[in-house]
Amino acid sequence: MPLSKSQYLKALQCHKRLWLAKFRPELAEPVSEAQQAIFDQGTLVGKVAQGLFANGIEIAFTPDNFAGMINETQALLEQHPNITIYEATFKFQDCFAMLDILVKTPAGLEIYEVKSSTGAKDVYLEDLSFQVYILQSLGYPISKACLININNDYIFDGLELNLEELFKIEDFTQELFIKAKHVPHLVSQMQNTLSSDEPHIDIGVHCSKPYKCEFTNYCWSHIPDVSVFSLSDARGKDWELYKQGYIKLEDIPLNKSTRSQISSKHIQQIECYLENKTHINQNAIDNQLSQIQFPIAFLDFESFQDAIPRLRASKPFEQIPFQYSLHILESPDGELMHYEFLAKADQDPRYDFISSLMRDLPKSGSIVVYNRSFEAGVLKKLACEVPEFEPEINQALERFFDLMLIFQRRDYYHPDMQGRYSIKNVLPALIPQLSYKDLAIGEGKAASRAFVKLRDQQDLSEKIRADLLAYCKLDTLAMVEIWKQLIKL
Ligand code: SF4
Repeated sequence: MPLSKSQYLKALQCHKRLWLAKFRPELAEPVSEAQQAIFDQGTLVGKVAQGLFANGIEIAFTPDNFAGMINETQALLEQHPNITIYEATFKFQDCFAMLDILVKTPAGLEIYEVKSSTGAKDVYLEDLSFQVYILQSLGYPISKACLININNDYIFDGLELNLEELFKIEDFTQELFIKAKHVPHLVSQMQNTLSSDEPHIDIGVHCSKPYKCEFTNYCWSHIPDVSVFSLSDARGKDWELYKQGYIKLEDIPLNKSTRSQISSKHIQQIECYLENKTHINQNAIDNQLSQIQFPIAFLDFESFQDAIPRLRASKPFEQIPFQYSLHILESPDGELMHYEFLAKADQDPRYDFISSLMRDLPKSGSIVVYNRSFEAGVLKKLACEVPEFEPEINQALERFFDLMLIFQRRDYYHPDMQGRYSIKNVLPALIPQLSYKDLAIGEGKAASRAFVKLRDQQDLSEKIRADLLAYCKLDTLAMVEIWKQLIKL
């Protein structure tokens, strides 16, 4: 049965995934908007990387005519002693693959696999070894097999991309020659699976490694919303418990044996769930909240990342802030004021963002954020990129207070948080009447995608801008209400 490179990689993760993809594709979850954005980014990176080997010929993708793609590749290789081909397509027996970049030189064929990632991963080498196997089996001499990744130390000058600096090329030829020797045996095992009934493979860590499997809904249907997999920072304990036959939290007997296997945080989480009780470490909460001083500024950012940098002095995957929401409470009885900023989609947002923020932030008092490392990291980067604001940024950073720590350290734990402490989990547990559910944009990555869509499509839609503003405003309002709830304890 035909086996493409992507099917081969699916099977390396799980044979049942391959089988379901071939025979029960209707069970697969549809590609989400977030996944599609990742695929689109990969396509863009692949196109830009082609510039490293300019003037290549691209084999047009015609899914209903692979034979045509294969014939065209073969003809080009026969006609030219030196040639670069993008998406060169090969088939050996039932195995076929499209290669990102193929360079033919008198010394042999060079294979380049492009990934929009910053380092080599095992799965990338498996991918390349399948390509090496097919080409070697067809009798082609291979002189190089390399991975092209993104160098995240590269700084774009704002004028022209320097592709030699933007990309890293790592040569894995010798390692891949050894790896490719194992491919025939693996392929034969996969073919056996495909000629049999649906394999009995239980769920496991392989369901999300190296990639989240699209058949999770089907295979995980016996796992309830609250289960051993809800245990926070489980570090493999969830799978140990599952293998012992425990699925629901109420299944786990809190006896000497199981208590010795799991952490005190897990025991607390299970007890809170079973008894539907909230754990509150009043002293620890009071100590932390006493550090907060008026005027209190509740601050949240949204940012986007580009694999291929587009802004002067920015790096690949750098967090570029484009929006903030700021709620300010001057005094305990003061009126809650709201300030916000959303960049114009067609401009570098950084200068306007930081100048507006520094104007809106009070010069004293606490700045309450949720997950300090993110906001602080963005501001520190801006201090380098827009140095005129560096003193003010440093002064603001000294006044940061991270509200998340109260929940991360479990000084407050409500069973509805289900072992998590993101604001999206904490808010419904503390303030159920305040919800993200009715918003068109309900999480940070969706906000990033919406802004990038505004930018790339030059979509000046007021609806998307209004959705972005509503989402970010709720993030800081949620912080205000959570803080109010905590001081009432
Ligand atoms: S969800 Fe897990 S067990 Fe099911 S096919 Fe995917 S990887 Fe295999």
